[in-house]
Order: sequence, then C-alpha cells, then structure tokens
Amino acid sequence: MDASTQTNAAHLLDWYDRSARALPWRSPPGSPPPDPYRVWLSEVMLQQTTVAAVGPYFAKFTGRWPTVEALAAADEGEVMAAWAGLGYYARARNLIACAKAVAARGGQFPQTEADLRELPGLGAYTAAAVAAIAFGQRAVVVDANVERVVARLFAIDEPLPGARKAIRVRTEEITPDRRAGDFAQAMMDLGATVCTVRSPRCLLCPLSHACAGRATGAERFPVKPPKAAKPQRRGRAFWIGQGGAVWLVRRGGTGMLAGMRALPDDGWSARGDGASEPPLPDAAWEGGGTVRHGFTHFDLDLQLMLYSGGDWVSFPAEAGEWWPLDQLEQAGLPTLFAKAAALALAQKEQVGEYLVR
Ligand code: SF4
Repeated sequence: MDASTQTNAAHLLDWYDRSARALPWRSPPGSPPPDPYRVWLSEVMLQQTTVAAVGPYFAKFTGRWPTVEALAAADEGEVMAAWAGLGYYARARNLIACAKAVAARGGQFPQTEADLRELPGLGAYTAAAVAAIAFGQRAVVVDANVERVVARLFAIDEPLPGARKAIRVRTEEITPDRRAGDFAQAMMDLGATVCTVRSPRCLLCPLSHACAGRATGAERFPVKPPKAAKPQRRGRAFWIGQGGAVWLVRRGGTGMLAGMRALPDDGWSARGDGASEPPLPDAAWEGGGTVRHGFTHFDLDLQLMLYSGGDWVSFPAEAGEWWPLDQLEQAGLPTLFAKAAALALAQKEQVGEYLVR
C-alpha cells in the first residue's frame, strides 16, 4: 500500500472512531472483536436486507438461541418460523446447516477466509466479513455500501455487474493490514450514512480530498446496467377455514419458500409453470382478490380463492394442519402468504362467518 493509500485509510479510521454506528452485533471501534456467532448471524441476515429490518430479528434470534450450538440444536421449523418476514429463505436453511457444522467443530468458527468458505452456505462475502470483523484478518469485504463508495472514489465508469471486478481490485488496494475489521465496518458506515445512494454528503466525507467521482457527479456511480423488465407470474392460493381455524401446509423441501408454513396453492413458480388444481376439486370457490408480491427475479400476482363449499372437509393429517385463526401470527407465514391471509381475514370481517363454518 502506498503512502497516500495509508493516509486515506488513517483518515477513514479516525472518522470511524468518532462516528461508528452502534449496532447490537458490533464492538466499539478499537475494542476486542465481537463474538463470531453474532457477526456471522448479522451478516447472513443483512444480505439483501436493511439494518432497520434486521434489528428485531437479530434480537429475537440471539435471545432465543444465544450460541451457535443452541441454534444448531433448535427445531428447524421453529427457526424457519422465526425467520418469516426476512425473505430469501434459502438463507435460513443455510443458517441451520452452517450452525450444525460449526457445532460439530465444538462451536468454534474457523478463523481464515478460506476455511470459513468450507462451511455450508457461507459465500465469499460472508467469509470475508467474518474473517475481518470477528478475527481481525485482512480480507476484502465488498457489500453494496462498499461497492458504491469505491465506485465513486475511483470514478469507475464500467456498468455493474462487470464493474465488480475493478471495484474488488480497488478495494483490495485500499484495505490496510491493521484494523481490517474496523476498516471494513468504516467503509460500510460511510456508505450507509455519508456516501448515500442519493445526495451523498461529500462535505462531511473523510475521503473527499481523494475522491475522483465527486467532481464528475457522484450519484452516477456505480453505473447501473440497463433495467430488464421482471417477468410477471400468476398463481392461486386457497383459503379453507372452518371452526375458527385455517388449513395450512408445510411447503416442500426445494423451490421457492421451501420448508415454510403456507396456504395451499397451485404450485406457481419462478418459471411460471406448475399450476395444479385446487385441493378440493368439488368444493365451491370464490375469488377473494389478488395479492401482488415482488420477488428478486419476478413479480407474482397471487389470486386468493376462498372455500365456500357446504361440506365439512378433512385432509390427510400429514398434508398439513388446522391452525387457529387467533394464533395466525405465530404460524411464521412468509410475507406473501401473510398478505394473502390478511386479505382473507379482512373479507371475513366484512361477511361475518362466511369463511368459518
Ligand atoms: S466524497 Fe462524496 S462521493 Fe466521494 S466517497 Fe465521499 S461521500 Fe462518496
């Protein structure tokens, strides 16, 4: 690292010492590193999710499962239910697999980036972040905030995602040997609080003297690729209520929202195939409105079908369970199905016992 890079790192760390965000999974600047379990858990939760949204989930998980061994021994259904609402449910399944692997090592996380990568579901970013923040290893940590700061600092003109290679090389150049964890968190904080997506506060920035992007209009970095339209998918979900309860199923082990508790549906998928018949083919169904939900790669219009057939229905016990309506919040429904349930319940309020026999 040359002298100017060292000076820039020193400026940034000085700023971090004064301005670090106080977050429940962190240690204050310059103090011993935080518990690797808390670092790892927070980094998994923070992928594609804001700090504000993660806060209550982090408190819930660490309150209920304070160690990686406790999480490894937890009932998987309970972990998935506790995760409900955070989205990207593959993360929760990977979380369980990784916790079990660490528990099998006596509860000790490996300390190097390469060894962390060997854990199930632990990708390049999370391995670098845990190595740097929990173990003080020099690692190149590039999240969305860091990506933005570096693209602006070096005025990287290439659009994403191609620019990621240059951003990584530049981040590697400016990462110091000492206080690598604080440096990574300082870059994250700078992106979150100063070098923001809109209206970056360059006058307050500790790196403004070295920033190439500032002079040419910082907001245009990182350069975005042309936007591709998301495909629109359609599906149906089925609300079957009786006796103050609703019929819920556990989704299969693969595919969207795998392993989550849900309303029965017609097998909609990201590819747009898989539509099947309602679970009660002879029953009467009425349209109950449509829920719109955006996934990363497609938008879904989920039509809600309300069972209004006259017969008391029964299902094989292994297919699902009758879930009490007054405890629906504890079912851990993912957001899509929570929205559908809210729509059904709003109509139930309008039409009295129409849905519940
Ligand atoms: S000077 Fe402005 S654009 Fe450059 S890194 Fe700082 S806040 Fe971002």
